[in-house]
Amino acid sequence: MFEHIQAAPSDPILGLNDAFRNDPNPKKINLGVGVYKDEQGTTPILKSVKQAEERLLNQETSKSYLSIEGSQAYREAVQTLLFGEDTQIISKQLAQTAQTPGGTGALRVAAEFIRKHLPNATIWVSNPTWANHQAVFQSVNLEVGSYAYYDVDTKSLDFESMLAGLSQVPAGDVVLFHGCCHNPTGIDPTPEQWYQLAKLCSKQGFLPLFDFAYQGFGAGLEEDAQGLRTFLNHVPEMLIANSFSKNFGLYNERVGALTIVSDNADQALAAFTQIKRAVRTNYSNPPSHGSAIVAEILNSKELRSLWEMELKSMRSRIHEMRSLFVNTLRAKGVNQDFSFISKQNGMFSFSGLNPEQVSRLRKEFSIYIVGSGRINVAGMTHENMEPLCEAIAAVLKE
Ligand code: PMP
Repeated sequence: MFEHIQAAPSDPILGLNDAFRNDPNPKKINLGVGVYKDEQGTTPILKSVKQAEERLLNQETSKSYLSIEGSQAYREAVQTLLFGEDTQIISKQLAQTAQTPGGTGALRVAAEFIRKHLPNATIWVSNPTWANHQAVFQSVNLEVGSYAYYDVDTKSLDFESMLAGLSQVPAGDVVLFHGCCHNPTGIDPTPEQWYQLAKLCSKQGFLPLFDFAYQGFGAGLEEDAQGLRTFLNHVPEMLIANSFSKNFGLYNERVGALTIVSDNADQALAAFTQIKRAVRTNYSNPPSHGSAIVAEILNSKELRSLWEMELKSMRSRIHEMRSLFVNTLRAKGVNQDFSFISKQNGMFSFSGLNPEQVSRLRKEFSIYIVGSGRINVAGMTHENMEPLCEAIAAVLKE
């Protein structure tokens, strides 16, 4: 039965991790991974998470199933983080949220929902975008298109082309936006650009799908939600896939959510029953532990302020590494301008290194970078910065 099945190509980013693990060089550096690393090069469990887990261990009385849409306390906490305190969206019940296994689970449920209920919709993603977007949408046979985003020459947002591309998107299609910390470029629209995009969306009548995987990794919890909230002032409907993998460091607990917003509470509820149906036929109901941690932290004053401090320290470390990287490259005699790196948001940047330079860095210096030149700034530390920048200077020279 299985003879005709060809092996699938390996995931380019996860494959890079395997190669890194097998590299015996003690000085190896991994800028390929998609997880936060601290100054020691580890992906720590946050103190707020550990403390919440201790509480849960003592309080938990049952391992019975959660409902299809997940824990109520979690769902409410998600909405407050997305929309802010005291908003009409919450008080008028214009949003419905389903707890999902990670942001990927949310995107997958969204994809099925779109395919079934907006069957003629094409989904538009930025060029470039997170490598899994296309695959998730294509797995349910959605038509995927792309809109201009990145200007290779100026290493910045090509906003004019972005607007021009999106003005061609017809009503009824879906456009995916990265809420903040665009992966892989690290470049986000400014508040004024978000405003223009929201106005365009309202004029064209396409449905925005926000992928919000890094809230708090850019400028702050509230600041990072500005794009999404600006849209909500102009458009009646939205889908939001959010993830707590990064901002709570809960990667392997698989914690995320899919939220649907409508300007009509009954419509939001009706559409939500279809989202629940997609969940039921996929994984029936979500796993509990990670969501219980998030709800415990967000609903406890003490744990929440500890978490916000920890989130701030992850964010500050990333910003510090960005500046240090730019300065150290300059100090190592690199003439090319890398200052764009210190202006970007989140863990990722397009470094501008070409595939040949990426390959040399790996072969000659055991420095692992994704072939596209995307670097994870969180893989940098005070200790590895000098050798890293020396190696980059060496491959840029020839
Ligand atoms: N969207 C983007 C833009 C991401 O970068 C990621 C994680 N790399 C996800 C979604 C998926 O997040 P999760 O690990 O929670 O499934």
